Amino acid sequence: MTKKILVTGGAGFLGSHLCERLLSEGHDVLCVDNYFTGTKDNILHLMSNPKFEVMRHDVTFPLYVEVDEIYNLACPASPVHYQFDPVQTTKTSVHGAINMLGLAKRVQARILQASTSEVYGDPEIHPQTEDYWGKVNPIGIRSCYDEGKRCAETLFFDYWRQHALEIKVVRIFNTYGPRMHPNDGRVVSNFIVQALKGQDITIYGDGQQTRSFCYVDDLIEAMIRMMGSHSDFTGPVNIGNPGEFSMLQLAELVIRMTSSKSKIAFRPLPQDDPKQRRPDITVARNELSWEPTIVLETGLEKTISYFKAMI
Ligand code: NAD
Ligand code: UDP
Ligand code: UDP
Repeated sequence: MTKKILVTGGAGFLGSHLCERLLSEGHDVLCVDNYFTGTKDNILHLMSNPKFEVMRHDVTFPLYVEVDEIYNLACPASPVHYQFDPVQTTKTSVHGAINMLGLAKRVQARILQASTSEVYGDPEIHPQTEDYWGKVNPIGIRSCYDEGKRCAETLFFDYWRQHALEIKVVRIFNTYGPRMHPNDGRVVSNFIVQALKGQDITIYGDGQQTRSFCYVDDLIEAMIRMMGSHSDFTGPVNIGNPGEFSMLQLAELVIRMTSSKSKIAFRPLPQDDPKQRRPDITVARNELSWEPTIVLETGLEKTISYFKAMI
Protein backbone atom coordinates (compact mmCIF):
# COMPACT_ATOMS: atom_id res chain seq x y z
CA MET A 1 0.00 0.00 0.00
CA THR A 2 1.37 3.42 -0.98
CA LYS A 3 1.66 5.81 1.95
CA LYS A 4 2.42 9.49 2.43
CA ILE A 5 5.48 9.50 4.65
CA LEU A 6 7.15 12.44 6.39
CA VAL A 7 10.89 12.20 7.09
CA THR A 8 12.23 15.02 9.26
CA GLY A 9 15.98 15.51 8.88
CA GLY A 10 15.54 13.90 5.46
CA ALA A 11 18.48 15.74 3.88
CA GLY A 12 20.91 14.39 6.46
CA PHE A 13 23.11 11.31 6.39
CA LEU A 14 20.57 8.74 7.62
CA GLY A 15 17.51 10.66 6.42
CA SER A 16 18.64 10.70 2.79
CA HIS A 17 19.15 6.93 2.80
CA LEU A 18 15.74 6.48 4.40
CA CYS A 19 14.00 8.72 1.81
CA GLU A 20 15.71 6.75 -0.96
CA ARG A 21 14.54 3.43 0.48
CA LEU A 22 10.95 4.61 1.01
CA LEU A 23 10.76 5.99 -2.55
CA SER A 24 12.09 2.69 -3.92
CA GLU A 25 9.12 1.02 -2.23
CA GLY A 26 6.75 3.35 -4.09
CA HIS A 27 5.75 5.66 -1.25
CA ASP A 28 5.15 9.42 -1.40
CA VAL A 29 7.91 11.03 0.64
CA LEU A 30 7.93 14.50 2.19
CA CYS A 31 11.43 15.47 3.29
CA VAL A 32 11.53 18.27 5.87
CA ASP A 33 14.89 19.79 6.76
CA ASN A 34 16.41 23.13 7.76
CA TYR A 35 19.80 22.18 6.24
CA PHE A 36 21.70 22.77 9.48
CA THR A 37 23.87 19.67 8.93
CA GLY A 38 22.10 18.13 5.95
CA THR A 39 22.64 19.23 2.36
CA LYS A 40 20.69 19.32 -0.88
CA ASP A 41 23.51 17.28 -2.43
CA ASN A 42 22.42 14.29 -0.31
CA ILE A 43 18.98 14.27 -1.97
CA LEU A 44 19.80 15.70 -5.39
CA HIS A 45 19.46 12.27 -7.02
CA LEU A 46 15.90 11.97 -5.66
CA MET A 47 14.65 15.37 -6.84
CA SER A 48 13.49 14.17 -10.27
CA ASN A 49 11.16 11.61 -8.66
CA PRO A 50 7.61 13.06 -8.73
CA LYS A 51 6.84 11.20 -5.49
CA PHE A 52 9.55 13.15 -3.65
CA GLU A 53 8.83 16.54 -2.11
CA VAL A 54 11.20 18.73 -0.13
CA MET A 55 10.32 21.44 2.37
CA ARG A 56 12.74 23.79 4.11
CA HIS A 57 11.40 23.95 7.66
CA ASP A 58 12.66 23.97 11.23
CA VAL A 59 10.85 21.36 13.34
CA THR A 60 10.94 23.60 16.41
CA PHE A 61 8.05 25.42 14.69
CA PRO A 62 4.63 23.80 14.14
CA LEU A 63 4.06 21.93 10.90
CA TYR A 64 0.66 21.28 9.39
CA VAL A 65 0.72 18.59 6.69
CA GLU A 66 -1.32 15.46 6.00
CA VAL A 67 0.67 12.22 6.22
CA ASP A 68 0.22 8.55 7.18
CA GLU A 69 3.59 7.96 8.85
CA ILE A 70 6.35 10.07 10.41
CA TYR A 71 10.04 9.28 10.86
CA ASN A 72 11.47 11.93 13.20
CA LEU A 73 15.20 12.21 12.49
CA ALA A 74 15.74 15.96 12.65
CA CYS A 75 18.62 16.68 15.03
CA PRO A 76 22.36 17.20 14.54
CA ALA A 77 24.10 13.96 15.54
CA SER A 78 27.82 14.65 15.72
CA PRO A 79 29.24 16.17 18.92
CA VAL A 80 30.88 19.04 16.99
CA HIS A 81 27.56 20.02 15.41
CA TYR A 82 25.24 19.48 18.37
CA GLN A 83 27.59 21.46 20.64
CA PHE A 84 27.80 24.36 18.15
CA ASP A 85 24.42 25.74 19.30
CA PRO A 86 23.45 23.57 22.28
CA VAL A 87 20.27 25.49 23.08
CA GLN A 88 19.00 24.92 19.55
CA THR A 89 19.93 21.22 19.89
CA THR A 90 17.70 20.77 22.94
CA LYS A 91 14.94 22.78 21.25
CA THR A 92 15.17 20.59 18.17
CA SER A 93 14.82 17.40 20.21
CA VAL A 94 12.15 18.63 22.62
CA HIS A 95 10.07 21.20 20.69
CA GLY A 96 10.62 19.12 17.55
CA ALA A 97 9.22 16.03 19.29
CA ILE A 98 6.24 17.98 20.67
CA ASN A 99 5.38 19.35 17.23
CA MET A 100 5.77 16.04 15.44
CA LEU A 101 3.77 14.24 18.15
CA GLY A 102 1.06 16.91 17.93
CA LEU A 103 1.00 16.39 14.18
CA ALA A 104 0.87 12.60 14.58
CA LYS A 105 -2.00 12.97 17.04
CA ARG A 106 -4.01 15.21 14.72
CA VAL A 107 -3.62 13.04 11.62
CA GLN A 108 -3.45 9.72 13.55
CA ALA A 109 -0.12 8.77 12.03
CA ARG A 110 2.30 6.20 13.33
CA ILE A 111 5.49 7.98 14.44
CA LEU A 112 9.05 6.72 14.84
CA GLN A 113 11.67 8.50 16.90
CA ALA A 114 15.38 8.25 16.03
CA SER A 115 16.69 8.03 19.58
CA THR A 116 20.24 7.17 20.46
CA SER A 117 22.60 5.02 22.49
CA GLU A 118 23.56 8.34 24.13
CA VAL A 119 20.51 7.92 26.38
CA TYR A 120 22.74 5.40 28.23
CA GLY A 121 25.44 8.08 28.71
CA ASP A 122 28.72 6.62 30.00
CA PRO A 123 27.19 3.22 30.77
CA GLU A 124 27.92 1.03 33.81
CA ILE A 125 26.18 -1.96 32.17
CA HIS A 126 27.91 -3.70 29.29
CA PRO A 127 26.59 -4.50 26.72
CA GLN A 128 23.64 -2.09 27.03
CA THR A 129 20.12 -3.51 27.26
CA GLU A 130 16.97 -1.43 26.79
CA ASP A 131 15.96 -1.75 30.45
CA TYR A 132 19.14 0.03 31.60
CA TRP A 133 18.32 3.64 32.61
CA GLY A 134 21.73 5.07 31.80
CA LYS A 135 24.31 7.29 33.45
CA VAL A 136 24.00 10.75 31.96
CA ASN A 137 25.49 14.02 33.18
CA PRO A 138 22.60 16.53 33.10
CA ILE A 139 24.84 19.65 32.93
CA GLY A 140 27.80 18.69 30.73
CA ILE A 141 28.67 19.59 27.15
CA ARG A 142 26.96 16.45 25.77
CA SER A 143 23.80 17.01 27.83
CA CYS A 144 22.01 19.15 25.22
CA TYR A 145 21.95 16.08 23.00
CA ASP A 146 21.68 13.28 25.58
CA GLU A 147 19.03 14.92 27.77
CA GLY A 148 17.19 16.33 24.73
CA LYS A 149 16.89 12.82 23.32
CA ARG A 150 15.90 11.41 26.73
CA CYS A 151 13.17 14.04 27.07
CA ALA A 152 11.98 13.25 23.55
CA GLU A 153 11.61 9.59 24.57
CA THR A 154 9.62 10.72 27.62
CA LEU A 155 7.30 12.73 25.38
CA PHE A 156 6.83 9.80 23.02
CA PHE A 157 5.83 7.49 25.87
CA ASP A 158 3.52 10.12 27.42
CA TYR A 159 1.74 10.67 24.10
CA TRP A 160 1.42 6.90 23.87
CA ARG A 161 -0.02 6.59 27.40
CA GLN A 162 -2.11 9.77 27.32
CA HIS A 163 -3.30 9.88 23.70
CA ALA A 164 -2.87 6.24 22.59
CA LEU A 165 -0.55 7.31 19.80
CA GLU A 166 1.21 4.55 17.86
CA ILE A 167 4.85 5.20 18.71
CA LYS A 168 8.09 3.45 17.72
CA VAL A 169 11.35 4.30 19.45
CA VAL A 170 14.69 3.08 18.10
CA ARG A 171 17.95 3.67 19.98
CA ILE A 172 20.56 3.96 17.26
CA PHE A 173 24.19 3.06 18.01
CA ASN A 174 27.05 4.65 16.01
CA THR A 175 26.14 4.32 12.35
CA TYR A 176 28.40 5.14 9.41
CA GLY A 177 28.44 5.05 5.61
CA PRO A 178 28.34 7.18 2.46
CA ARG A 179 26.92 10.74 2.83
CA MET A 180 28.34 11.30 6.29
CA HIS A 181 29.49 14.91 6.28
CA PRO A 182 33.30 14.93 5.71
CA ASN A 183 33.78 17.62 8.38
CA ASP A 184 31.20 16.57 10.92
CA GLY A 185 33.83 15.34 13.33
CA ARG A 186 32.55 11.82 13.84
CA VAL A 187 35.23 9.22 14.20
CA VAL A 188 34.68 7.14 11.06
CA SER A 189 34.52 10.12 8.69
CA ASN A 190 37.42 11.86 10.47
CA PHE A 191 39.73 8.84 10.26
CA ILE A 192 38.93 8.08 6.62
CA VAL A 193 39.31 11.68 5.46
CA GLN A 194 42.55 12.07 7.43
CA ALA A 195 43.92 8.79 6.05
CA LEU A 196 43.06 9.68 2.45
CA LYS A 197 44.68 13.11 2.80
CA GLY A 198 47.77 11.72 4.51
CA GLN A 199 47.08 13.83 7.61
CA ASP A 200 47.56 12.68 11.21
CA ILE A 201 44.85 10.36 12.49
CA THR A 202 43.53 12.12 15.60
CA ILE A 203 42.79 9.75 18.46
CA TYR A 204 41.12 11.39 21.45
CA GLY A 205 42.47 10.07 24.76
CA ASP A 206 44.41 6.79 24.72
CA GLY A 207 42.19 5.21 22.05
CA GLN A 208 41.08 2.38 24.36
CA GLN A 209 37.45 3.61 24.43
CA THR A 210 35.17 1.38 22.36
CA ARG A 211 32.25 1.84 19.98
CA SER A 212 30.14 -0.54 17.89
CA PHE A 213 29.69 0.54 14.28
CA CYS A 214 26.62 -0.25 12.21
CA TYR A 215 26.58 0.19 8.43
CA VAL A 216 23.80 2.50 7.21
CA ASP A 217 21.97 -0.09 5.05
CA ASP A 218 21.54 -2.39 8.06
CA LEU A 219 20.19 0.48 10.11
CA ILE A 220 17.64 1.57 7.48
CA GLU A 221 16.37 -2.00 7.20
CA ALA A 222 15.81 -2.05 10.98
CA MET A 223 13.96 1.29 10.91
CA ILE A 224 11.61 0.04 8.19
CA ARG A 225 10.95 -3.17 10.11
CA MET A 226 10.34 -1.20 13.29
CA MET A 227 7.79 1.07 11.60
CA GLY A 228 6.01 -2.03 10.26
CA SER A 229 6.06 -3.94 13.55
CA HIS A 230 2.82 -4.91 15.31
CA SER A 231 1.01 -1.98 16.91
CA ASP A 232 1.62 -2.93 20.54
CA PHE A 233 5.40 -2.94 20.09
CA THR A 234 6.65 0.54 20.99
CA GLY A 235 10.28 -0.19 21.72
CA PRO A 236 12.63 1.24 22.80
CA VAL A 237 14.75 -1.11 20.76
CA ASN A 238 18.53 -1.02 20.36
CA ILE A 239 19.68 -0.93 16.73
CA GLY A 240 23.36 -1.41 16.16
CA ASN A 241 26.11 -3.83 15.33
CA PRO A 242 27.40 -5.74 18.36
CA GLY A 243 30.95 -5.89 16.94
CA GLU A 244 32.99 -3.75 19.35
CA PHE A 245 36.23 -1.95 18.48
CA SER A 246 38.60 0.41 20.26
CA MET A 247 39.36 3.69 18.48
CA LEU A 248 42.97 2.52 18.18
CA GLN A 249 41.81 -0.64 16.36
CA LEU A 250 39.61 1.46 14.09
CA ALA A 251 42.51 3.81 13.27
CA GLU A 252 44.80 0.89 12.41
CA LEU A 253 42.12 -0.73 10.25
CA VAL A 254 41.46 2.51 8.31
CA ILE A 255 45.20 3.11 7.78
CA ARG A 256 45.62 -0.44 6.46
CA MET A 257 42.56 -0.36 4.21
CA THR A 258 43.53 2.99 2.64
CA SER A 259 47.25 2.07 2.42
CA SER A 260 47.83 5.45 4.04
CA LYS A 261 51.10 6.90 5.28
CA SER A 262 49.25 8.80 8.03
CA LYS A 263 50.59 8.63 11.58
CA ILE A 264 48.50 8.34 14.71
CA ALA A 265 48.41 11.50 16.87
CA PHE A 266 46.89 11.56 20.34
CA ARG A 267 44.65 14.50 21.37
CA PRO A 268 42.86 15.32 24.65
CA LEU A 269 39.74 13.28 25.41
CA PRO A 270 36.58 15.47 25.32
CA GLN A 271 34.54 15.80 28.54
CA ASP A 272 32.08 12.95 29.34
CA ASP A 273 33.23 10.81 26.39
CA PRO A 274 31.70 7.34 26.99
CA LYS A 275 34.35 4.67 27.67
CA GLN A 276 32.59 1.70 26.13
CA ARG A 277 29.51 1.03 24.10
CA ARG A 278 27.97 -2.09 22.60
CA PRO A 279 24.30 -2.86 21.96
CA ASP A 280 22.55 -5.94 23.25
CA ILE A 281 20.27 -6.60 20.25
CA THR A 282 18.21 -9.47 21.66
CA VAL A 283 15.00 -7.40 21.49
CA ALA A 284 15.62 -6.44 17.84
CA ARG A 285 16.34 -10.08 16.99
CA ASN A 286 13.15 -11.29 18.68
CA GLU A 287 10.71 -8.52 17.76
CA LEU A 288 11.99 -7.46 14.32
CA SER A 289 13.82 -10.64 13.21
CA TRP A 290 16.65 -8.24 12.48
CA GLU A 291 20.37 -8.36 12.87
CA PRO A 292 23.15 -6.58 11.02
CA THR A 293 24.62 -8.33 7.99
CA ILE A 294 27.50 -6.01 7.05
CA VAL A 295 30.78 -6.42 8.92
CA LEU A 296 32.99 -3.40 9.63
CA GLU A 297 35.56 -4.08 6.88
CA THR A 298 32.89 -4.37 4.19
CA GLY A 299 31.12 -1.21 5.33
CA LEU A 300 34.39 0.68 5.58
CA GLU A 301 35.29 -0.33 2.01
CA LYS A 302 32.07 1.28 0.71
CA THR A 303 32.57 4.36 2.87
CA ILE A 304 36.20 4.78 1.83
CA SER A 305 35.16 4.61 -1.86
CA TYR A 306 32.60 7.35 -1.23
CA PHE A 307 35.11 9.68 0.40
CA LYS A 308 37.76 8.88 -2.24
CA ALA A 309 35.38 10.04 -4.96
CA MET A 310 34.55 13.17 -2.98
CA ILE A 311 38.09 14.28 -2.09
P1 NAD B 1 22.75 14.42 10.31
O1 NAD B 1 23.29 15.59 11.05
O2 NAD B 1 23.37 14.05 9.02
O3 NAD B 1 21.18 14.60 10.04
C1 NAD B 1 20.33 15.38 10.82
C2 NAD B 1 19.43 16.18 9.88
O4 NAD B 1 18.50 16.94 10.66
C3 NAD B 1 20.19 17.17 9.02
O5 NAD B 1 19.78 17.08 7.69
C4 NAD B 1 19.85 18.52 9.63
O6 NAD B 1 19.94 19.58 8.72
C5 NAD B 1 18.45 18.26 10.14
N1 NAD B 1 18.03 19.16 11.22
C6 NAD B 1 18.73 19.50 12.33
N2 NAD B 1 18.00 20.34 13.09
C7 NAD B 1 16.81 20.52 12.45
C8 NAD B 1 15.66 21.28 12.73
N3 NAD B 1 15.56 22.02 13.84
N4 NAD B 1 14.64 21.25 11.84
C9 NAD B 1 14.71 20.52 10.71
N5 NAD B 1 15.79 19.77 10.40
C10 NAD B 1 16.83 19.79 11.26
O7 NAD B 1 22.79 13.20 11.33
P2 NAD B 1 22.36 11.67 11.13
O8 NAD B 1 23.53 10.85 11.50
O9 NAD B 1 21.73 11.46 9.83
O10 NAD B 1 21.29 11.51 12.28
C11 NAD B 1 19.90 11.45 12.04
C12 NAD B 1 19.16 11.14 13.32
O11 NAD B 1 19.60 9.89 13.85
C13 NAD B 1 19.40 12.18 14.42
O12 NAD B 1 18.20 12.39 15.13
C14 NAD B 1 20.41 11.51 15.31
O13 NAD B 1 20.31 11.96 16.64
C15 NAD B 1 20.02 10.05 15.18
N6 NAD B 1 21.16 9.17 15.49
C16 NAD B 1 22.19 9.01 14.59
C17 NAD B 1 23.27 8.21 14.92
C18 NAD B 1 24.42 7.98 13.97
O14 NAD B 1 25.37 7.30 14.36
N7 NAD B 1 24.41 8.45 12.75
C19 NAD B 1 23.31 7.58 16.17
C20 NAD B 1 22.27 7.78 17.05
C21 NAD B 1 21.18 8.56 16.70
N1 UDP C 1 1.20 20.71 16.00
C1 UDP C 1 1.76 20.74 14.75
N2 UDP C 1 1.08 20.22 13.70
C2 UDP C 1 -0.15 19.66 13.83
C3 UDP C 1 -0.73 19.62 15.11
C4 UDP C 1 -0.03 20.16 16.18
O1 UDP C 1 2.89 21.22 14.58
O2 UDP C 1 -0.69 19.20 12.82
C5 UDP C 1 1.92 21.27 17.14
C6 UDP C 1 1.12 22.32 17.86
O3 UDP C 1 1.59 23.58 17.45
C7 UDP C 1 1.40 22.08 19.31
C8 UDP C 1 2.12 20.75 19.38
O4 UDP C 1 2.13 20.23 18.06
O5 UDP C 1 2.29 23.04 19.81
C9 UDP C 1 1.49 19.76 20.29
O6 UDP C 1 0.18 19.52 19.87
P1 UDP C 1 -0.92 18.91 20.84
O7 UDP C 1 -2.20 18.87 20.10
O8 UDP C 1 -0.43 17.63 21.40
O9 UDP C 1 -0.95 19.91 22.05
P2 UDP C 1 -1.64 21.30 22.23
O10 UDP C 1 -1.90 21.91 20.88
O11 UDP C 1 -2.88 20.98 22.96
O12 UDP C 1 -0.64 22.06 23.03
N1 UDP D 1 37.13 10.20 18.30
C1 UDP D 1 38.50 10.17 18.07
N2 UDP D 1 39.01 10.93 17.06
C2 UDP D 1 38.24 11.69 16.26
C3 UDP D 1 36.83 11.73 16.48
C4 UDP D 1 36.33 10.98 17.52
O1 UDP D 1 39.24 9.46 18.77
O2 UDP D 1 38.79 12.34 15.35
C5 UDP D 1 36.57 9.36 19.38
C6 UDP D 1 35.63 10.08 20.34
O3 UDP D 1 36.35 10.68 21.38
C7 UDP D 1 34.75 8.94 20.81
C8 UDP D 1 34.69 8.00 19.60
O4 UDP D 1 35.80 8.36 18.76
O5 UDP D 1 35.38 8.25 21.87
C9 UDP D 1 33.40 8.13 18.80
O6 UDP D 1 33.19 9.49 18.52
P1 UDP D 1 31.98 10.02 17.64
O7 UDP D 1 32.00 11.50 17.75
O8 UDP D 1 32.05 9.42 16.29
O9 UDP D 1 30.68 9.41 18.31
P2 UDP D 1 30.12 9.37 19.83
O10 UDP D 1 31.19 9.82 20.77
O11 UDP D 1 28.96 10.28 19.82
O12 UDP D 1 29.79 7.95 20.03
